[in-house]
Amino acid sequence: MTRDQQALQHELHIEDAINETCPWSGKPISADALTLYSGAVVGFCNPDCRDKFASALRSFEAALQARRVERSGLEQ
Ligand SMILES: [Zn+2]
Repeated sequence: MTRDQQALQHELHIEDAINETCPWSGKPISADALTLYSGAVVGFCNPDCRDKFASALRSFEAALQARRVERSGLEQ
């Protein structure tokens, strides 16, 4: 976990989470497995599930970025 993630973890509260169960496992969310999505707190049953979600988001972000670069190249 990076220092930023640790700082973020400290500011997120399980009672603010918009979901009650982990989308991967269906188990109840855990206070040490929270993150932000679209400005809302979302929770997972453990940090591994959260990290799996974070890496999926990064993957989509990278794909979007690549497509933007590709399109801007075509327009020129
Ligand atoms: Zn989970």
